[in-house]
Amino acid sequence: MTDLLIRNARTILTMDDDRRELSNTDILISNGSIAAIGTDLTHDGDSIDASKCVVTPGLVNTHHHLYQSLTRAVPGGQDALLFGWLQTLYPIWSRFGPEEIHVSTLTGLAELALSGCTLTSDHLYLYPGGSRLDDSIAAASEIGVRFHPTRGAMSIGESAGGLPPDSLVEAEPKILEDMIRVVDAFHDASEGSMCRVGLAPCSPFSVSRDLMRDAALLARDKGVMLHTHLAENDEDIAYSEAQFGCRPGQYAEDLGWTGPDVWHAHCVKLDGQEIDLFARTRTGVAHCPCSNCRLGSGIAPVRAMRDAGVPVGLGVDGSASNDIGNLVLEARQAMLLQRVTRGADAMSAREALEIATRGGADVLGRPDCGRLAVGKRADIALWDVTGVESAGSWDPAALLLAGPTSVRDLIVEGRQVVRDGQVTTIDLPRVIERQNQLAQALAG
Ligand SMILES: [Zn+2]
Repeated sequence: MTDLLIRNARTILTMDDDRRELSNTDILISNGSIAAIGTDLTHDGDSIDASKCVVTPGLVNTHHHLYQSLTRAVPGGQDALLFGWLQTLYPIWSRFGPEEIHVSTLTGLAELALSGCTLTSDHLYLYPGGSRLDDSIAAASEIGVRFHPTRGAMSIGESAGGLPPDSLVEAEPKILEDMIRVVDAFHDASEGSMCRVGLAPCSPFSVSRDLMRDAALLARDKGVMLHTHLAENDEDIAYSEAQFGCRPGQYAEDLGWTGPDVWHAHCVKLDGQEIDLFARTRTGVAHCPCSNCRLGSGIAPVRAMRDAGVPVGLGVDGSASNDIGNLVLEARQAMLLQRVTRGADAMSAREALEIATRGGADVLGRPDCGRLAVGKRADIALWDVTGVESAGSWDPAALLLAGPTSVRDLIVEGRQVVRDGQVTTIDLPRVIERQNQLAQALAG
């Protein structure tokens, strides 16, 4: 792999252990990782002038359903609460196949990359029309974004008292078999890995207690992570109390779903005891502020979680419930929402960016990502702060207060995935055209 020098960055927000901020500094990249950070570094090969840029670690997205980019702003689901929204969308998703998964994943990953994301997880929990996790992994490999796909699942259909139609659920033995297959085929545990697979039953209301427990046992056996939706809104809490006789935190703990190898999406309704449980066990949270606003779920107690020591990362969530998939805007929203409930000093722009970078990397078990330091992976976002949105800013490094909402350049594992605001690795206009054709076919 060729080396690359980032020259003369106006400001580097390293998010390293000392949270250093460096001016007029260079970063030398070699073999996918950061070889040096300093001034007047020399290098014979390619280089990027960063004198107009604030440079940050690549952003990390900890919760998404990339396939949903094909069902943005569906009229019947625009104003519905979570359960009603799902019931509108399930029949549409049941008509997906491998191409729909592949093209929608490419689209969602391109949108993420342009908004500064270098590492994302994905939660794919339905496999209609012969589609497989492989279809999304192929898309991530094409665009070159670091990928943590999760093999999701739903097993309780309408006829068994669940929410999804029977056509979208799978038999539990088949789910476990395919979980083993995709971990064996794609999971790479090595440092600098571009693909790590996780196991992710969709939610406590769409799979059985047995599958939750079996998935946890399998994940520990294979050394992979666990992910699901938890405590998303009041309906979710009521369901847990009625069906399981306990709150979601207790349910998770009983089934082995706490620990540093587990992260839960949303957690809007965690109470004080559950926050303590998550902090004690180092269980991670994927905070999805835009989705929570969009579906009226509430404001997650992120300040309290962070103060207690819960690992928190950010997630844009699926494009059907956001509907945009812009990660830097998500970070701004996280900052604003904490201020709504806790006052203007509840979260700074720099803390929200920290959650979006090293916070997310830690949630995903990637201490090799999410910070800029020698030896860490070369996942780097360059934000041009000479544009109109930064003009007049006294502190351009406070990106989330006044800064661009897309990157000028993005580097993943030392490779330039975005250059001058354009994705370099795929033919994005063609992908968008195909995405729109597929959406129209589904609508018709
Ligand atoms: Zn979700």
